[in-house]
Amino acid sequence: MNGAAFFLAVNFIIAICFGAVFAVVSTRSRSRTAALWFAAAFTVASLSAVCELLVAYTSLTKFWAIGAFASVLGGMILLRIGIGELYGRKVAPGRAGCFLLASIVVDLLIYDLPRGTAAHAFSYQTPFALMLLTSAAAVFSSTRRLAIDRALGYLLVATGLHFFAKASLAVIAGAGTTAKDYIGTNYALISQSSTAVLVVAVGLTLLSVLVLEIMADERSNSEKDTLSGLANRRGFENGVKAAMALAPKGGHAVIICDLDHFKRINDTYGHHGGDLVIQAFGDLLRTRAAKNAVVGRIGGEEFAIFLPNTTLDMATLFAQALRGGTMEITVSALPSSFAVTASFGVAELAPGDALAGAMRDADAALYQAKRSGRNRVKQARPAGYPEPAAINAHK
Ligand code: GH3
Ligand code: MG
Ligand code: MG
Repeated sequence: MNGAAFFLAVNFIIAICFGAVFAVVSTRSRSRTAALWFAAAFTVASLSAVCELLVAYTSLTKFWAIGAFASVLGGMILLRIGIGELYGRKVAPGRAGCFLLASIVVDLLIYDLPRGTAAHAFSYQTPFALMLLTSAAAVFSSTRRLAIDRALGYLLVATGLHFFAKASLAVIAGAGTTAKDYIGTNYALISQSSTAVLVVAVGLTLLSVLVLEIMADERSNSEKDTLSGLANRRGFENGVKAAMALAPKGGHAVIICDLDHFKRINDTYGHHGGDLVIQAFGDLLRTRAAKNAVVGRIGGEEFAIFLPNTTLDMATLFAQALRGGTMEITVSALPSSFAVTASFGVAELAPGDALAGAMRDADAALYQAKRSGRNRVKQARPAGYPEPAAINAHK
């Protein structure tokens, strides 16, 4: 086995491995379809190495030579379809099929031209280059703009352009006179090895895009409460950190609220009825809170709302509105006699204050609201202040 044949065998194994890995990743990825297209792309492209070897070592030269061309281009078209799925730049399968057919016809027409002529080399390599450059264009024009996406775009440009470099090299260094000669040339060695490096780089980058996506999804799931759809305690704390980083000057407020006599609701309407009430209350908080607020379910029937750049009094007004909204909650599965109330504790964070201290203050204020009869809003006051009056719009 000479050097180029060795690289063909290596390329085959690499492409097959990527095909298998993308198939495995598709089982966990939200971009399942794209991952399956990538698996198909690498599997189809792997066939080109087999075809190239059959060109060199069997008598059906033309058939296998066209097969090699078609499988590489087919793989790239499948890659383009997958990238289109992933980056929201879909291609019509009909158009992709026409492009493949037209390119195969061109390849048949140039087949008898001597290798190493510019006409043959550029006609042969241009469809590959075009397919990769349109994939790069799909990546760059998409709304996904992480560093890894840009890296993929540049890599696709480099891989696309390398096919033109290969055509130039075939003209300069010679690629053998016939398809059968190819495998014995230095050009074949350089061509196969450079393609192997770029194929590995594109495969690994695509894999990174999908794995980072899976990690982001796992993280967001671990920060979400499935019943209410709001952030859980961890998600709330991380959300507040991010919100505070966006508004470092400070002057924020936090509200903790807790449904009143929730045990009774469970006892009266069952646990499922209680769950529906938690969902309805969560919906109220989500729809009423401003876009930049962070809302979380931090315990069984306990919720927290972080309001960036909000004074204690503004937050208290908002809590009063929520208290009123809670009394109007209806749950279609529960009898019309059903009613629910909630108590609220409000605290502020001076610039530089940590969330934990404000949460303790809000919790103490909530406790006061519960002690003074529930269904009310209490503001936290700094230590040493006299007990504040309850703020109750209804009293
Ligand atoms: P208070 O007005 O003092 O807050 O009284 P409460 O009954 O609401 O408070 P308590 O903390 O005594 O009880 C809360 C109940 O909430 C106990 C628990 O079974 C119930 N609970 C906690 N998580 C869930 C949940 O996810 N679903 C349902 N249905 N109930 C829950
Ligand atoms: Mg309660
Ligand atoms: Mg509670």
